Amino acid sequence: MMPLDQVHHLYQTVLTRIEEVIFEIEKNNQALMEASQLKSQFLATMSHELRTPMNAIMGFSQMLMLEQYGPLSPRQADMVERIFNNSQNLLSLLNEVLDFSKLEAGCWDVNFQPFDTARLIKGTVEELRSLAQKKNLNLIVIIDTENPEICSDQSCIRRILINLLGNAIKFTPQGSVTVTLEDGPDNTLKLTVQDTGIGIAPEDQILIFEAFRQVDQTLTRKHSGTGLGLAIVKSLVQMIQGGITITSQRGEGAGFTIAIPRTPQQRRIIAIDAEVYL
Ligand code: ADP
Repeated sequence: MMPLDQVHHLYQTVLTRIEEVIFEIEKNNQALMEASQLKSQFLATMSHELRTPMNAIMGFSQMLMLEQYGPLSPRQADMVERIFNNSQNLLSLLNEVLDFSKLEAGCWDVNFQPFDTARLIKGTVEELRSLAQKKNLNLIVIIDTENPEICSDQSCIRRILINLLGNAIKFTPQGSVTVTLEDGPDNTLKLTVQDTGIGIAPEDQILIFEAFRQVDQTLTRKHSGTGLGLAIVKSLVQMIQGGITITSQRGEGAGFTIAIPRTPQQRRIIAIDAEVYL
């Protein structure tokens, strides 16, 4: 048998080593967190800086399209329109990266104020109507609440709706996209974006909320995108203390529902009748 003082010494050595390892892990964790913070900061700065030249490209191509500096031949008009459309796409990608990095770096300010959700929703839907028209989709808004006044963050809800509606239009080859606002349980409003598109298989429904995740990850995929939209939606929903649920089957359309608390509270609101709760 080992003498007691040797056991004690061994015990002390092991304890010291464990403490050293814990210290190392904590140091590495700190370094990783700082590196991640720097990466988010870099992404935010880059996308912000890139927006300025993009705005110039869009502004000048718009002036050319309006023929303010002389008439364009049909071929020139077609080219300028393509420049404009592509820069618009690039700008929305940049905005997505900017939003994501701001949220990741914890630099997104929430501002709770009273406002009329029905008005916000109708206005936001109108911003995207031309996208739906280009694909011959029916874009329907149903306001089914007596009291659309809430105290929440307008810009978060607008951004959530733009992302969900953008996806619904993108992933729906034909049919309709319906936005519904109705009363939910526990003093919430329910905002649903329902489409008749390609749908999402149940096994993919959790994954798509992770950043950069897409159901079709191949380079030859049909639909463009960063894979950040739903990660942004998930963070924004948390910021307004809400919940999100998804109801879908592959090939049978998709429905995303946001539970919006009418007033901010200390505790998080538990979501509505959910198939998947995040
Ligand atoms: P992106 O649209 O840029 O690919 P998102 O994070 O917004 O990224 O969405 C992630 C993935 O979830 C999409 O690539 C798509 O596979 C799936 N998805 C999202 N919304 C819908 C929808 N309405 N219908 C079908 N699939 C969807």
